[in-house]
Order: sequence, then C-alpha cells, then structure tokens
Amino acid sequence: MAANIQTIGVIGAGQMGNGIAHVCALAGFPVMLNDISPDRIKAGLATINGNMTRQVSKNTISEDARKSALALIKPAEKYEDLVNCDLVIESATEKEDVKRKIFADLCAVIKPEAIVATNTSSISITRLAASTDRPENFIGIHFMNPVPLMELVELIRGIATNDSTFEASKTFISKLHKTIAVSEDFPAFIVNRILLPMINEAIYTLYEGVGNVEAIDTAMRLGAHHPMGPLELADFIGLDTCLSVMQVLHEGLADSKYRPCPLLVKYVEAGWLGRKTKRGFYDYRGEKPVPTR
Ligand code: NAD
Repeated sequence: MAANIQTIGVIGAGQMGNGIAHVCALAGFPVMLNDISPDRIKAGLATINGNMTRQVSKNTISEDARKSALALIKPAEKYEDLVNCDLVIESATEKEDVKRKIFADLCAVIKPEAIVATNTSSISITRLAASTDRPENFIGIHFMNPVPLMELVELIRGIATNDSTFEASKTFISKLHKTIAVSEDFPAFIVNRILLPMINEAIYTLYEGVGNVEAIDTAMRLGAHHPMGPLELADFIGLDTCLSVMQVLHEGLADSKYRPCPLLVKYVEAGWLGRKTKRGFYDYRGEKPVPTR
C-alpha cells in the first residue's frame, strides 16, 4: 500500500525550496523548512510571505489562505526537526557532494519509512538513491521554476524505487494541483534535456557575435513566441544551475553537442549568476534590466 504523506520537510530555502514550501503549505501540508543557517530560513520565509501577498493582491488566493498557509511552515534548523516528516524534499545547491552529505546526515535521523525525494535538475536519481540507506524509498520530484506558477512536475524513479513510493508521490503531487510527466532516469530528464541545450546554443550565438543579448531574446520572443528570451530565461534559472545541467549532459551522455559555452563558464566564474546576484546577461541593479553585452 502507498504511504500516506502528511508532513513535508524541505531542505534548501532558496528559490526552488521556498517555492516548494509555498505550494505544499497552500495545499494544507505542514512544512518544516531547513537551510544551512537560521538567516537563510528567515529569508526563505520572507520570500514566501512576499509571494503569497502578491497572490492575494492578484486575487489568486484569499488573505485567509495566506495566513493559514504561512502558519503551516515552520523553521527547521536541524535535521532532527524533520523526524516527523513523511516526505523530505531536498532542494539544496545543485552539487552532488552537497546532496550526498545531506542525505547521509538526514537519513541517520528521520523515520526509516520516510520517503526522501530530490528536486535535482540533472543528477542521476539512481546514483543519489544509492548514497542513501533507502534507495527503494527514494525518488526524483522535479518542480519547475517558479514553483507556484508552473503546472508541471517531473517524476523520476531510480532503478530501486518501489511502487509504494511512486504511487504516494503521485498522490502527493496531484494534491498540489500539478500535472505529472514521468521521466526515465537519464541526465537532465525531459524538460531540461530539451531546454538547456537551447539556452546553451543561445549563449553560443552571443559568443560568436551572431547577435547581441537584445537581438537574441527579441528574436526568440517574437520569432518563436517564447514568453521569455533564452538569455532572460538563463538569468532567471541561475547561470550556475544552467552550467551544472550542461556539464551533467556533457559528461552523462558523452556527446560534444552538449559542450557548455565558454561564455557561460566565464559569467559563472565572475559570479554573475543572473537575477539572484543582480547580474548575468542583464544587469538588474537599476530600475530596468540592461543587457551586459
Ligand atoms: P538556490 O541557490 O536558490 O538555493 C539553494 C539553497 O540550498 C540555498 O539557500 C543554500 O543555502 C541551500 N543549501 C546549500 N547547502 C545546504 C545544506 N547542506 N543544507 C541545507 N541547505 C543547503 O538554488 P535553487 O535554484 O533553489 O536550486 C535548488 C535545487 O533545485 C537544485 O538542485 C536545482 O538543480 C533544482 N532546480 C532548480 C531550478 C531552477 O530553475 N533554478 C528548477 C528546478 C530544479
């Protein structure tokens, strides 16, 4: 029988983690939110409050819904605070060693039957599962950014994931009113396997001087009807995350067509990671974003 998921733990209160906590709480799940410091958790909670307040002003949720959802999210400074969680979703930095360390420390203290999920954009679910004490209770639940707005969740079984974990995860996601696309466990799954090479190609187009930032984004917005240009989207996703996904595709599929553009590497080395650091392909420090090339 599939496990009944009631209480959720979220590890990482960054842009994805706070979005995951946001949608879980709005769906009525109690949430324990963890990050590396109390300040980061506080920042995550403040972002959730800000985003919910915006939803109230747009009439997408009621003021009562905002209040009760916020009351459901509690800070969890230690993994021990996650002891009552039925499902813990890891959404920390996209680095395999960071995630492995989290799973080792987390699994030592949470319930043996708790499901552990990762929101990784690209790392093998089977490999991450193998680093835990519960590969059968481990699964990929991959949310899209921004979590409160995007309808899709990719669900990825590792080789050992059992049916009970898969079914319980499906039920949980449907309670968040999201649609599931089941993906096999191959590098970057479905959406990013298609999307990130397109973004990387846009960066090559910039690197080779085919067009400047504005021309490339205008071309794809008006010429392909994409709601955002690929460089604007790269800044939105985070250039470090874009680079990690390309590296995983390049290494995992061993095909030179996935070679990360050197210009993407340069931006990441500069610490220009997009919106989250206020500079990427655009500079966000002023009133309006200004192209940096
Ligand atoms: P982010 O940099 O905004 O947030 C990551 C957070 O994890 C930070 O707050 C950091 O302090 C925290 N963290 C780092 N180490 C930790 C640890 N040991 N314990 C607890 N917290 C820790 O990154 P993000 O964009 O939210 O990405 C998080 C995950 O979601 C990544 O795996 C990423 O691949 C995935 N993801 C990202 C997107 C996207 O568009 N950005 C979309 C889907 C999935």
